[in-house]
Amino acid sequence: MDLLEYQGKQLFKQFGIPVSEGRLATTPAEARAAAEELGTQVVVKAQVLTGGRGKAGGVKRAEDPADAEQKAKDMIGLDIRGHVVEKLWIEEASDIAKEYYLSITFDRGAKQPLFMFTMQGGVEIEDVAANDPDALIRLHVDALEGYQPWIARRLVYGAGVEDPGEQKQLADIIGKLYRCFVECDAMLTEINPLIVTPDGVVKALDSKFTVDDSALYRHPDIAEFRDPGAADPFEAFAREKGVTYVKLDGSVGILGNGAGLSMSTVDVVVVAGGKPANFCDLGGGGNAEGVVDALEVITRDPQVKSVFFNIFGGITRCDEVARGILEALDRMKIEIPIVVRLDGTNAEEGRQILADAALPNVHVSPTMLEAAKKAVELAA
Ligand code: GDP
Ligand code: MN
Repeated sequence: MDLLEYQGKQLFKQFGIPVSEGRLATTPAEARAAAEELGTQVVVKAQVLTGGRGKAGGVKRAEDPADAEQKAKDMIGLDIRGHVVEKLWIEEASDIAKEYYLSITFDRGAKQPLFMFTMQGGVEIEDVAANDPDALIRLHVDALEGYQPWIARRLVYGAGVEDPGEQKQLADIIGKLYRCFVECDAMLTEINPLIVTPDGVVKALDSKFTVDDSALYRHPDIAEFRDPGAADPFEAFAREKGVTYVKLDGSVGILGNGAGLSMSTVDVVVVAGGKPANFCDLGGGGNAEGVVDALEVITRDPQVKSVFFNIFGGITRCDEVARGILEALDRMKIEIPIVVRLDGTNAEEGRQILADAALPNVHVSPTMLEAAKKAVELAA
Protein backbone atom coordinates (compact mmCIF):
# COMPACT_ATOMS: atom_id res chain seq x y z
CA MET A 1 0.00 0.00 0.00
CA ASP A 2 1.37 3.36 -1.04
CA LEU A 3 0.93 6.27 1.33
CA LEU A 4 0.37 9.89 0.46
CA GLU A 5 3.12 12.35 1.32
CA TYR A 6 1.39 13.70 4.41
CA GLN A 7 0.70 10.19 5.71
CA GLY A 8 4.33 9.18 5.29
CA LYS A 9 5.40 12.37 7.00
CA GLN A 10 3.07 11.59 9.89
CA LEU A 11 4.95 8.31 10.36
CA PHE A 12 8.32 10.06 9.96
CA LYS A 13 7.28 12.42 12.72
CA GLN A 14 6.30 9.53 14.99
CA PHE A 15 9.81 8.15 14.61
CA GLY A 16 11.42 11.49 15.32
CA ILE A 17 12.41 12.44 11.77
CA PRO A 18 12.10 16.22 11.40
CA VAL A 19 9.34 17.42 9.07
CA SER A 20 7.59 20.77 8.62
CA GLU A 21 4.32 21.64 10.33
CA GLY A 22 1.35 21.22 8.05
CA ARG A 23 -2.41 20.81 7.70
CA LEU A 24 -4.62 18.82 5.39
CA ALA A 25 -7.11 20.70 3.21
CA THR A 26 -9.73 19.56 0.72
CA THR A 27 -11.19 22.96 -0.20
CA PRO A 28 -9.66 26.39 -0.99
CA ALA A 29 -11.27 27.76 2.18
CA GLU A 30 -9.60 25.06 4.26
CA ALA A 31 -6.29 25.84 2.57
CA ARG A 32 -6.69 29.49 3.53
CA ALA A 33 -7.56 28.58 7.13
CA ALA A 34 -4.56 26.25 7.30
CA ALA A 35 -2.24 29.00 6.08
CA GLU A 36 -3.71 31.40 8.63
CA GLU A 37 -3.26 28.89 11.41
CA LEU A 38 0.33 28.14 10.45
CA GLY A 39 1.00 31.86 10.29
CA THR A 40 3.91 31.59 7.85
CA GLN A 41 4.41 31.42 4.13
CA VAL A 42 3.21 28.01 3.05
CA VAL A 43 3.66 25.51 0.28
CA VAL A 44 0.49 24.04 -1.21
CA LYS A 45 1.16 20.42 -2.14
CA ALA A 46 -1.12 18.10 -4.13
CA GLN A 47 -1.58 14.77 -2.35
CA VAL A 48 -1.56 12.19 -5.12
CA LEU A 49 0.12 8.82 -5.36
CA THR A 50 2.64 9.82 -8.00
CA GLY A 51 5.99 11.57 -8.04
CA GLY A 52 7.05 14.56 -10.10
CA ARG A 53 4.32 16.73 -8.65
CA GLY A 54 6.62 19.72 -8.58
CA LYS A 55 7.10 19.71 -12.36
CA ALA A 56 3.40 19.08 -12.96
CA GLY A 57 2.24 22.13 -10.96
CA GLY A 58 1.36 20.17 -7.84
CA VAL A 59 3.74 22.04 -5.51
CA LYS A 60 3.26 25.82 -5.20
CA ARG A 61 4.54 28.37 -2.76
CA ALA A 62 1.93 30.85 -1.48
CA GLU A 63 2.68 34.38 -0.28
CA ASP A 64 -0.21 34.67 2.18
CA PRO A 65 -3.50 32.96 3.14
CA ALA A 66 -5.40 34.56 0.23
CA ASP A 67 -2.73 33.31 -2.16
CA ALA A 68 -2.91 29.85 -0.58
CA GLU A 69 -6.65 29.86 -1.24
CA GLN A 70 -6.07 30.80 -4.88
CA LYS A 71 -3.30 28.21 -5.36
CA ALA A 72 -5.54 25.57 -3.80
CA LYS A 73 -8.36 26.54 -6.15
CA ASP A 74 -6.06 26.07 -9.14
CA MET A 75 -4.72 22.77 -7.86
CA ILE A 76 -7.88 20.92 -6.80
CA GLY A 77 -9.16 18.89 -9.72
CA LEU A 78 -5.82 19.11 -11.53
CA ASP A 79 -4.81 15.91 -13.29
CA ILE A 80 -1.28 14.84 -12.38
CA ARG A 81 -0.23 11.84 -14.44
CA GLY A 82 -3.76 10.44 -14.31
CA HIS A 83 -4.32 11.25 -10.63
CA VAL A 84 -6.96 13.86 -9.90
CA VAL A 85 -6.06 16.13 -6.99
CA GLU A 86 -8.58 16.02 -4.15
CA LYS A 87 -6.43 16.55 -1.06
CA LEU A 88 -3.85 19.21 -0.36
CA TRP A 89 -1.13 19.36 2.22
CA ILE A 90 -0.50 22.92 3.37
CA GLU A 91 2.95 23.10 4.86
CA GLU A 92 5.17 25.77 6.37
CA ALA A 93 7.46 26.86 3.55
CA SER A 94 11.13 26.03 3.99
CA ASP A 95 14.19 27.83 2.72
CA ILE A 96 16.49 25.42 1.01
CA ALA A 97 20.28 25.54 0.91
CA LYS A 98 20.87 21.96 -0.21
CA GLU A 99 18.78 19.01 -1.37
CA TYR A 100 19.90 15.49 -0.49
CA TYR A 101 18.30 12.09 -1.11
CA LEU A 102 17.85 9.23 1.33
CA SER A 103 15.92 6.00 0.91
CA ILE A 104 15.56 2.46 2.12
CA THR A 105 14.05 -0.08 -0.24
CA PHE A 106 13.70 -3.78 0.10
CA ASP A 107 16.18 -5.41 -2.27
CA ARG A 108 14.52 -8.72 -3.06
CA GLY A 109 17.53 -10.00 -4.98
CA ALA A 110 19.81 -9.55 -1.99
CA LYS A 111 17.00 -10.32 0.48
CA GLN A 112 18.08 -7.28 2.46
CA PRO A 113 17.04 -3.70 3.02
CA LEU A 114 19.09 -1.33 0.88
CA PHE A 115 20.07 2.20 1.89
CA MET A 116 20.70 4.77 -0.81
CA PHE A 117 22.05 8.22 -0.09
CA THR A 118 23.33 11.06 -2.25
CA MET A 119 23.96 14.78 -1.92
CA GLN A 120 22.33 15.18 -5.34
CA GLY A 121 18.71 15.15 -4.20
CA GLY A 122 15.60 16.86 -5.47
CA VAL A 123 15.95 15.26 -8.88
CA GLU A 124 15.03 11.83 -10.19
CA ILE A 125 17.29 9.34 -8.46
CA GLU A 126 17.48 7.27 -11.64
CA ASP A 127 19.24 10.22 -13.30
CA VAL A 128 21.85 10.36 -10.55
CA ALA A 129 22.40 6.61 -10.83
CA ALA A 130 22.84 6.92 -14.60
CA ASN A 131 24.88 10.14 -14.83
CA ASP A 132 26.96 10.13 -11.68
CA PRO A 133 26.83 6.63 -10.16
CA ASP A 134 29.70 7.32 -7.75
CA ALA A 135 27.67 10.06 -6.08
CA LEU A 136 25.04 7.53 -5.06
CA ILE A 137 26.05 5.48 -2.04
CA ARG A 138 24.33 2.11 -1.74
CA LEU A 139 24.54 -0.02 1.36
CA HIS A 140 22.75 -3.23 2.35
CA VAL A 141 21.79 -3.96 5.92
CA ASP A 142 22.12 -7.44 7.34
CA ALA A 143 18.75 -7.94 8.99
CA LEU A 144 20.18 -10.19 11.71
CA GLU A 145 22.92 -7.73 12.56
CA GLY A 146 20.41 -4.90 12.37
CA TYR A 147 21.21 -1.25 12.18
CA GLN A 148 24.70 -0.19 13.29
CA PRO A 149 26.01 3.36 13.64
CA TRP A 150 28.81 2.72 11.11
CA ILE A 151 26.12 2.44 8.42
CA ALA A 152 25.24 6.11 8.77
CA ARG A 153 28.91 7.09 8.83
CA ARG A 154 29.65 5.16 5.68
CA LEU A 155 26.68 6.71 3.85
CA VAL A 156 27.38 10.26 4.97
CA TYR A 157 31.18 10.24 4.49
CA GLY A 158 30.86 8.19 1.31
CA ALA A 159 28.59 10.77 -0.26
CA GLY A 160 30.95 13.57 0.77
CA VAL A 161 29.01 15.46 3.45
CA GLU A 162 31.66 17.54 5.24
CA ASP A 163 29.75 19.73 7.65
CA PRO A 164 29.88 18.17 11.15
CA GLY A 165 26.46 19.56 12.09
CA GLU A 166 24.92 18.00 9.00
CA GLN A 167 26.74 14.73 9.56
CA LYS A 168 25.32 14.48 13.06
CA GLN A 169 21.74 15.25 12.03
CA LEU A 170 21.95 12.93 9.03
CA ALA A 171 23.25 10.05 11.14
CA ASP A 172 20.34 10.55 13.50
CA ILE A 173 17.80 10.62 10.64
CA ILE A 174 19.35 7.57 8.95
CA GLY A 175 19.02 5.53 12.15
CA LYS A 176 15.46 6.70 12.69
CA LEU A 177 14.46 5.99 9.11
CA TYR A 178 15.70 2.43 9.51
CA ARG A 179 13.61 1.95 12.63
CA CYS A 180 10.63 3.46 10.83
CA PHE A 181 11.18 1.14 7.84
CA VAL A 182 11.38 -2.00 9.97
CA GLU A 183 8.71 -1.19 12.51
CA CYS A 184 6.16 -0.10 9.89
CA ASP A 185 6.85 -3.19 7.75
CA ALA A 186 7.70 -0.86 4.88
CA MET A 187 8.85 -1.94 1.44
CA LEU A 188 10.05 1.56 0.64
CA THR A 189 10.74 4.75 2.54
CA GLU A 190 12.18 7.59 0.51
CA ILE A 191 12.99 11.20 1.38
CA ASN A 192 13.57 13.30 -1.72
CA PRO A 193 14.54 15.97 -1.03
CA LEU A 194 16.06 15.70 2.40
CA ILE A 195 16.94 19.36 2.75
CA VAL A 196 19.44 21.46 4.62
CA THR A 197 18.09 24.92 5.42
CA PRO A 198 20.33 28.02 5.29
CA ASP A 199 20.48 27.69 9.11
CA GLY A 200 21.89 24.20 8.77
CA VAL A 201 18.77 22.30 9.84
CA VAL A 202 18.21 18.96 8.09
CA LYS A 203 14.62 17.82 7.48
CA ALA A 204 12.42 15.70 5.27
CA LEU A 205 10.63 17.84 2.70
CA ASP A 206 8.90 14.96 0.89
CA SER A 207 8.02 11.36 1.65
CA LYS A 208 7.40 8.29 -0.41
CA PHE A 209 6.24 5.35 1.66
CA THR A 210 5.10 1.84 0.75
CA VAL A 211 3.89 -0.58 3.39
CA ASP A 212 3.73 -4.33 2.84
CA ASP A 213 0.03 -5.14 2.32
CA SER A 214 0.42 -8.50 4.02
CA ALA A 215 1.59 -6.78 7.20
CA LEU A 216 -1.22 -4.24 7.38
CA TYR A 217 -3.09 -6.30 9.93
CA ARG A 218 -0.30 -5.44 12.35
CA HIS A 219 -0.76 -1.73 11.69
CA PRO A 220 -4.42 -0.79 12.04
CA ASP A 221 -3.44 2.88 12.23
CA ILE A 222 -1.65 2.70 8.87
CA ALA A 223 -4.41 0.56 7.29
CA GLU A 224 -6.79 3.38 8.16
CA PHE A 225 -4.92 5.64 5.75
CA ARG A 226 -6.44 3.65 2.91
CA ASP A 227 -8.85 5.85 1.06
CA PRO A 228 -11.90 3.75 0.20
CA GLY A 229 -12.72 6.17 -2.62
CA ALA A 230 -9.31 5.78 -4.23
CA ALA A 231 -9.35 1.99 -4.38
CA ASP A 232 -11.07 -0.05 -7.06
CA PRO A 233 -14.67 -0.46 -5.79
CA PHE A 234 -14.73 -4.19 -6.62
CA GLU A 235 -11.46 -4.76 -4.80
CA ALA A 236 -12.75 -2.77 -1.84
CA PHE A 237 -15.88 -4.94 -1.74
CA ALA A 238 -13.73 -8.09 -1.96
CA ARG A 239 -11.61 -6.90 0.95
CA GLU A 240 -14.76 -6.34 2.96
CA LYS A 241 -15.79 -9.93 2.22
CA GLY A 242 -12.34 -11.30 2.94
CA VAL A 243 -11.97 -12.58 -0.63
CA THR A 244 -8.58 -12.58 -2.36
CA TYR A 245 -9.38 -10.71 -5.55
CA VAL A 246 -7.64 -8.65 -8.20
CA LYS A 247 -9.68 -6.87 -10.85
CA LEU A 248 -8.55 -7.31 -14.45
CA ASP A 249 -10.19 -5.90 -17.56
CA GLY A 250 -11.51 -8.90 -19.52
CA SER A 251 -14.83 -10.72 -19.52
CA VAL A 252 -14.15 -14.19 -18.07
CA GLY A 253 -14.52 -14.25 -14.29
CA ILE A 254 -12.00 -16.56 -12.67
CA LEU A 255 -12.31 -18.53 -9.50
CA GLY A 256 -9.73 -21.07 -8.44
CA ASN A 257 -8.62 -22.71 -5.24
CA GLY A 258 -5.09 -21.69 -4.36
CA ALA A 259 -3.07 -18.81 -5.76
CA GLY A 260 -1.03 -21.00 -8.12
CA LEU A 261 -4.02 -22.65 -9.72
CA SER A 262 -5.86 -19.33 -9.98
CA MET A 263 -2.90 -17.77 -11.78
CA SER A 264 -2.68 -20.75 -14.12
CA THR A 265 -6.37 -20.31 -14.78
CA VAL A 266 -5.76 -16.72 -15.81
CA ASP A 267 -3.07 -17.99 -18.20
CA VAL A 268 -5.16 -20.77 -19.70
CA VAL A 269 -8.04 -18.37 -20.40
CA VAL A 270 -5.60 -16.24 -22.37
CA VAL A 271 -4.34 -19.34 -24.18
CA ALA A 272 -7.95 -20.14 -25.09
CA GLY A 273 -8.23 -16.70 -26.69
CA GLY A 274 -10.15 -14.97 -23.90
CA LYS A 275 -9.53 -12.18 -21.45
CA PRO A 276 -9.73 -12.73 -17.69
CA ALA A 277 -11.97 -10.32 -15.79
CA ASN A 278 -10.25 -10.95 -12.50
CA PHE A 279 -8.07 -13.16 -10.37
CA CYS A 280 -9.90 -14.72 -7.45
CA ASP A 281 -8.57 -17.28 -5.04
CA LEU A 282 -11.06 -19.28 -3.02
CA GLY A 283 -8.29 -20.50 -0.74
CA GLY A 284 -8.17 -24.01 0.62
CA GLY A 285 -11.86 -24.41 1.45
CA GLY A 286 -14.81 -24.64 -0.88
CA ASN A 287 -17.70 -24.42 1.51
CA ALA A 288 -20.88 -22.63 0.45
CA GLU A 289 -20.02 -19.52 2.46
CA GLY A 290 -16.73 -19.00 0.66
CA VAL A 291 -18.25 -19.77 -2.74
CA VAL A 292 -21.13 -17.33 -2.19
CA ASP A 293 -18.74 -14.57 -1.16
CA ALA A 294 -16.42 -15.17 -4.11
CA LEU A 295 -19.25 -15.40 -6.67
CA GLU A 296 -20.82 -12.28 -5.23
CA VAL A 297 -17.56 -10.40 -5.66
CA ILE A 298 -16.95 -11.68 -9.20
CA THR A 299 -20.45 -11.19 -10.57
CA ARG A 300 -20.73 -7.68 -9.17
CA ASP A 301 -18.45 -6.63 -12.05
CA PRO A 302 -20.74 -6.01 -15.06
CA GLN A 303 -17.85 -6.83 -17.41
CA VAL A 304 -18.04 -10.47 -16.35
CA LYS A 305 -19.90 -12.50 -19.00
CA SER A 306 -19.02 -15.99 -17.83
CA VAL A 307 -17.35 -17.57 -14.82
CA PHE A 308 -14.67 -20.22 -14.94
CA PHE A 309 -14.69 -22.16 -11.69
CA ASN A 310 -11.47 -24.15 -11.55
CA ILE A 311 -10.95 -26.54 -8.65
CA PHE A 312 -8.23 -29.04 -8.02
CA GLY A 313 -9.09 -31.13 -5.00
CA GLY A 314 -6.15 -32.05 -2.83
CA ILE A 315 -7.26 -31.75 0.74
CA THR A 316 -10.33 -29.96 -0.58
CA ARG A 317 -12.88 -32.55 -1.69
CA CYS A 318 -14.59 -31.90 -5.02
CA ASP A 319 -17.94 -33.28 -3.86
CA GLU A 320 -17.95 -30.72 -1.07
CA VAL A 321 -17.11 -27.95 -3.50
CA ALA A 322 -19.91 -29.13 -5.82
CA ARG A 323 -22.36 -28.99 -2.93
CA GLY A 324 -21.00 -25.56 -2.05
CA ILE A 325 -21.62 -24.36 -5.60
CA LEU A 326 -25.20 -25.66 -5.58
CA GLU A 327 -25.91 -24.16 -2.20
CA ALA A 328 -24.42 -20.87 -3.32
CA LEU A 329 -26.52 -20.82 -6.49
CA ASP A 330 -29.53 -21.64 -4.38
CA ARG A 331 -28.88 -18.61 -2.22
CA MET A 332 -28.03 -16.13 -4.95
CA LYS A 333 -29.38 -15.56 -8.42
CA ILE A 334 -26.74 -15.84 -11.14
CA GLU A 335 -27.83 -15.63 -14.76
CA ILE A 336 -24.46 -15.75 -16.48
CA PRO A 337 -22.97 -19.12 -17.46
CA ILE A 338 -20.63 -20.88 -15.05
CA VAL A 339 -18.15 -23.43 -16.32
CA VAL A 340 -16.90 -25.79 -13.64
CA ARG A 341 -13.82 -27.92 -13.90
CA LEU A 342 -13.34 -30.36 -11.04
CA ASP A 343 -10.32 -32.59 -10.72
CA GLY A 344 -8.57 -34.41 -7.88
CA THR A 345 -10.07 -35.86 -4.74
CA ASN A 346 -13.67 -37.06 -5.29
CA ALA A 347 -13.85 -35.36 -8.69
CA GLU A 348 -16.21 -38.03 -10.07
CA GLU A 349 -18.67 -37.55 -7.22
CA GLY A 350 -18.47 -33.80 -7.56
CA ARG A 351 -19.19 -33.86 -11.29
CA GLN A 352 -22.07 -36.26 -10.68
CA ILE A 353 -23.62 -33.95 -8.09
CA LEU A 354 -23.53 -31.05 -10.57
CA ALA A 355 -24.83 -33.23 -13.42
CA ASP A 356 -27.74 -34.43 -11.27
CA ALA A 357 -28.66 -30.87 -10.35
CA ALA A 358 -28.88 -30.07 -14.07
CA LEU A 359 -28.78 -26.31 -13.69
CA PRO A 360 -29.19 -24.67 -17.10
CA ASN A 361 -26.30 -22.23 -16.69
CA VAL A 362 -23.80 -24.60 -15.11
CA HIS A 363 -21.49 -26.45 -17.50
CA VAL A 364 -19.11 -29.15 -16.30
CA SER A 365 -15.85 -29.77 -18.11
CA PRO A 366 -13.30 -32.41 -17.20
CA THR A 367 -10.13 -30.61 -18.26
CA MET A 368 -8.77 -27.16 -17.65
CA LEU A 369 -8.22 -26.29 -21.31
CA GLU A 370 -11.64 -27.50 -22.40
CA ALA A 371 -13.28 -25.58 -19.57
CA ALA A 372 -11.32 -22.46 -20.51
CA LYS A 373 -12.42 -22.75 -24.15
CA LYS A 374 -16.02 -23.15 -23.06
CA ALA A 375 -15.88 -20.17 -20.71
CA VAL A 376 -14.28 -18.01 -23.39
CA GLU A 377 -16.89 -19.08 -25.94
CA LEU A 378 -19.72 -18.30 -23.52
CA ALA A 379 -18.27 -14.88 -22.71
CA ALA A 380 -18.14 -13.85 -26.35
P1 GDP B 1 7.66 15.87 -5.99
O1 GDP B 1 7.92 16.75 -7.16
O2 GDP B 1 6.39 15.09 -6.15
O3 GDP B 1 8.81 14.99 -5.66
O4 GDP B 1 7.40 16.85 -4.73
P2 GDP B 1 8.40 17.45 -3.64
O5 GDP B 1 7.68 17.50 -2.36
O6 GDP B 1 9.70 16.72 -3.62
O7 GDP B 1 8.62 18.93 -4.14
C1 GDP B 1 9.26 19.19 -5.36
C2 GDP B 1 10.25 20.32 -5.21
O8 GDP B 1 9.59 21.49 -4.77
C3 GDP B 1 11.32 20.05 -4.15
O9 GDP B 1 12.40 19.32 -4.65
C4 GDP B 1 11.70 21.45 -3.75
O10 GDP B 1 12.72 21.93 -4.62
C5 GDP B 1 10.44 22.24 -3.97
N1 GDP B 1 9.81 22.53 -2.66
C6 GDP B 1 8.93 21.76 -1.99
N2 GDP B 1 8.64 22.29 -0.79
C7 GDP B 1 9.35 23.44 -0.70
C8 GDP B 1 9.50 24.45 0.31
O11 GDP B 1 8.94 24.41 1.40
N3 GDP B 1 10.33 25.48 0.01
C9 GDP B 1 11.00 25.57 -1.17
N4 GDP B 1 11.81 26.61 -1.36
N5 GDP B 1 10.89 24.65 -2.13
C10 GDP B 1 10.09 23.58 -1.90
MN1 MN C 1 10.03 14.63 -4.07
